[in-house]
Amino acid sequence: MVMETNKEYTNGEVTIVWKPQLCAHSAICARGLPGVFKPKEKPWIHPHGATSEEIIAQVAKCPSGALSGYYNNEKENS
Ligand code: SF4
Repeated sequence: MVMETNKEYTNGEVTIVWKPQLCAHSAICARGLPGVFKPKEKPWIHPHGATSEEIIAQVAKCPSGALSGYYNNEKENS
């Protein structure tokens, strides 16, 4: 059985979900929103580094599906 270890980071309004086992380290997220995605830091995701709209738009561009996000007030598919 494969262990899924999803990491979640929230700014109180939106939550960023990161699945490390899917991440291809292409750094598209870091180039798109360098204030949020800082691969050299731990933790590397800083949910306060951009607006919620920018975060939701950027996670949708992750090519591997490692990143996703949702608005906390409309939490879907748990
Ligand atoms: S864009 Fe997606 S696959 Fe690329 S580094 Fe970011 S999280 Fe990983």
